[in-house]
Amino acid sequence: MHDLIEGVGRFMGTVHAKEKALFERLAHSQSPTTFFLTCSDSRVDPSLITQTEPGEMFVLRNAGNIIPRPEAGATGEAATLEYAVELLRVPDLIVCGHSNCGAMQGVLHPEKLLSVPNVDRWLRHASPTRGLVDKNFAAATEEVRWLAAVELNVLVQIEHLRLHPFARRAMDAGRLAVHAWVYDIGSGEVRAFDTSSHRFERINETTRALEGSPAGTPAEWPF
Ligand SMILES: [Zn+2]
Repeated sequence: MHDLIEGVGRFMGTVHAKEKALFERLAHSQSPTTFFLTCSDSRVDPSLITQTEPGEMFVLRNAGNIIPRPEAGATGEAATLEYAVELLRVPDLIVCGHSNCGAMQGVLHPEKLLSVPNVDRWLRHASPTRGLVDKNFAAATEEVRWLAAVELNVLVQIEHLRLHPFARRAMDAGRLAVHAWVYDIGSGEVRAFDTSSHRFERINETTRALEGSPAGTPAEWPF
């Protein structure tokens, strides 16, 4: 905790002062260009991996970068997404999973979650992910199944997003482009789902969105 207090001191004393004009502008309003949903894992830092500044990204984090389906009710995720899509009109939405995700380990091995019933219940929002891994990677090693769960879960959660009327409307109107990303902690590599190869490929400037652009349709997904 001591380190954090020191950090806040440095932020108030030097960092904030250096960017005075930026923070003065942000004090009155926000107009983020991107919604970024990722895992709560401490090793994933959205601003660091995208090199963005305060005000640029509207960030939502939870265990497993999950979007509950509409039947789950007015969850924090649905409310946060709806606010950003309907009122802030963010044009781009990224769902970003990551390597060695503990939540995905839990999805693959619910028997390990007996002592954490809330985690167990929460991760049921990702149960289709486990089904897809079991179906397509039945004989694979644990390591391969784990990474497959990370990748497939990003696509599953985007499928859940699509079920929300506010998101569906925005996608159909072409005012919301959706992107599926996976971040590798060890190498620093960020890969995006490519609608041509149907694989997660190292990201580059020509990587296209899954939705909201002519490039992607659900039929092109790997399941
Ligand atoms: Zn995680």
